[in-house]
Amino acid sequence: MNRLAGKVAMVTGAGRGIGAAIAAAFVREGAAVVLAELDIALAQETAQKIGSTDNVLAVQTDVTQSASVQNAVREAEAKFGPIDVLVNNAGINVFCDPLTMTDDDWRRCFAVDLDGVWNGCRAVLPGMVERGRGSIVNIASTHSFKIIPGCFPYPVAKHGVIGLTRALGIEYAGRQVRVNAIAPGYIETQLTHDWWNEQADPAKAKQATLDLQPMKRIGRPEEVAMTAVFLASDEAPFINASCITVDGGRSALYHD
Ligand code: NDP
Repeated sequence: MNRLAGKVAMVTGAGRGIGAAIAAAFVREGAAVVLAELDIALAQETAQKIGSTDNVLAVQTDVTQSASVQNAVREAEAKFGPIDVLVNNAGINVFCDPLTMTDDDWRRCFAVDLDGVWNGCRAVLPGMVERGRGSIVNIASTHSFKIIPGCFPYPVAKHGVIGLTRALGIEYAGRQVRVNAIAPGYIETQLTHDWWNEQADPAKAKQATLDLQPMKRIGRPEEVAMTAVFLASDEAPFINASCITVDGGRSALYHD
């Protein structure tokens, strides 16, 4: 407990799912947390559930807009002081066939899944570099390393998140700013349910997903959150420009 005591953290897309679980875990570990979320009503609801006005703040934020992210950082710092930890979690699934995908699908995917991560990094890095401390955790995906046909261009953007993590991790290592990623496998959130529900037979699609898993279950948002706490904390001082996979071993499996 209190592994993040005294730290100020910002989590994007923290209204629900993995982001909400990370925000809740950070609060439990003693951090003051800013929920930077598109849906402000959802963020406020989550904020009330996980803490109080003393340690949680919800700020309406669109990660695709750098001015919006800069504004969230300003509001966060005005309330709690300099940001020590940023989790770039906001992300969307854009799963298309490459040749029928529209230009808009491509742009929507990159705007959130890659530009959004950069906008977050760019907003906090000047302060972190100046203070000589900070931890950024980018939520990538097993799609950052593996390809599932028909899921284009999401894996392209998520590969980019790893490139961004490594590049910035090296760029600012000398200033003691660590930049790492987490690559979750299947995690049970709204995103996953939406995907199952889009399939012709949702129950069958869910069962097929479970059958693929070495542990015969998919992950819980809290299991990603535990890894985020570790990377954000002072327990990981020499982990930088790295990625931790949280997928129950699925991506190591060749086939049954
Ligand atoms: P959810 O869809 O459950 O939650 C994502 C949150 O991000 C939502 O609250 C959403 O708000 C918010 N969001 C979307 N767009 C923006 C934006 N432009 N600015 C700010 N917030 C935004 O997703 P998950 O919790 O499942 O996913 C979180 C991250 O984890 C994503 O980066 C995803 O790619 C990654 N991931 C998820 C996996 C999974 O199996 N669930 C597996 C691997 C990676 P709103 O509701 O208003 O759209």
